[in-house]
Amino acid sequence: MIAIDEVRDYVGGAWRRPSSARGTDVLNPATGEVIGQSPEGTPEDVAAAVNAASAAFPDWRALPPAERIQYLFRFKQLLEEHFEDIARSITIENGKTLGEARGELRRGVENVEVACGIPILMQGYTLEDVARGIDESMFRQPLGVVAAITPFNFPAMIPLWFLPYAIACGNTFVLKPSERVPFSIARVVELIEQTGLPRGVVNLVNGGKPAVDALLDHPAVQAISFVGSSPVARYIYARAAANGKRVQCQGGAKNHVVVLPDADRETTTQIVADSAYGCAGQRCLAVSVAVTVGDARDWFRKSITDLAASLKVGDGLGNGVQMGPLITPASKQRVEGLIAKGSAEGATAALDGRGAKITGHERGNFVGPTVLDGVPASSELTETEIFGPVLSVIHASSEEQAIDIITRSSYGNASSIFTGSGAAARRFRNQIPTGNVGVNIGVAAPMAYFPFSGWKGSFFGVLHAQGRDAVEFYTDKKVVIERWPKEWSRKF
Ligand code: NAD
Repeated sequence: MIAIDEVRDYVGGAWRRPSSARGTDVLNPATGEVIGQSPEGTPEDVAAAVNAASAAFPDWRALPPAERIQYLFRFKQLLEEHFEDIARSITIENGKTLGEARGELRRGVENVEVACGIPILMQGYTLEDVARGIDESMFRQPLGVVAAITPFNFPAMIPLWFLPYAIACGNTFVLKPSERVPFSIARVVELIEQTGLPRGVVNLVNGGKPAVDALLDHPAVQAISFVGSSPVARYIYARAAANGKRVQCQGGAKNHVVVLPDADRETTTQIVADSAYGCAGQRCLAVSVAVTVGDARDWFRKSITDLAASLKVGDGLGNGVQMGPLITPASKQRVEGLIAKGSAEGATAALDGRGAKITGHERGNFVGPTVLDGVPASSELTETEIFGPVLSVIHASSEEQAIDIITRSSYGNASSIFTGSGAAARRFRNQIPTGNVGVNIGVAAPMAYFPFSGWKGSFFGVLHAQGRDAVEFYTDKKVVIERWPKEWSRKF
């Protein structure tokens, strides 16, 4: 086991100390304790990982898909055996509750399971006699070295949106995880090592912007997968594309939920609270704005405020804790600043989570659940991704107006509607410009065998993470057209 305070790279099948000096402190967000230091990452560290991946590619690509997936079956087994250990590590470095950490890891493991289907998923197609005596076939082939750059909020799950598919398709892989949460993914990579996977097929390189830029510029890297905030997504999309790489970049979000007057009150309140306050609002699918329509305004405002006020906030490892801290002191300060701004711009804080104090955890980055009622359309909060436990409640006089509010957002990650009406739900599903849509579902997170979608400012690219989209992203199509005239054949 790697000690909790050591951040190491995994390159060519060996663990090594990054060459750069200390970069970022890694904190336990619940206690404020420094639990390690992430390096800045250097072009040399990245080059070492990419070279190892390049060297491993020819043999790995030649291994039949059915043999490649045997490593994934072993990986899945090891993830199950070490499930609790990894979940605890996620809670310690990210702050989410143990239940949430387990949920995240489960969703990650599901991607390993789906990638085990690669002998079917990667198949091409053929047609005999596209012209007389001529057959045409499409084969999918791996790209070479591919890289993923991932965010802090799902330390284990998001790397697993990419890694299993990339290697199952025959690529070799370099991962640059978030410098704020380097430990859980190191545990996951230790398990990959235990599968006996050939050296260099999976590599881990730590660091921040210098490491990212080196990956974006390295000529041997064929494809980049990114998940993180929209400004960085936009930057990575442009720079990697300018370098001729295939890119998929999932960005930030501002998700809305529409509550119609006929929604089931109890279920809606429960689900919206889970969506807004789960993972302390640090989910790209977190509901940030509830748009109440007509009579829903009064009952929803009261029920969500009551429920939010009852949530137990604390260290994610603690018994019965329902919401953990934010990732850093800077995040806490930023979120509290946005609550202040919303209030100054005309919203009423029906519940104000600023200054939350947890006994015994005075240095933790806690912000309590917050409900901001009546955020005006002109407020900065309308467009800002808060990424904290803050639910804005706004009111619309009709379903059309609610849809219009969502349509005007520059983001398009997810939206949900709560209603008892199939017709209203169908209209919403049909018209709403977001990539993930929930109907009486608060966190519309696609299963591993569906693409994790996202539109507008929440996604840059064409093919999404997970499932068939991942297979398309990590392979190129080769079309072969063949003629074999009878008269050219030797007689047998
Ligand atoms: P972030 O953009 O700060 O960091 C993401 C990754 O980019 C990290 O590995 C980081 O090292 C790197 N990075 C940061 N700044 C960089 C820069 N200037 N140049 C090059 N690389 C840089 O994101 P975060 O704070 O770790 O994660 C939270 C964000 O991720 C939120 O905006 C959230 O909505 C988004 N997110 C989106 C999805 C999705 O599926 N759309 C999923 C999870 C998180």
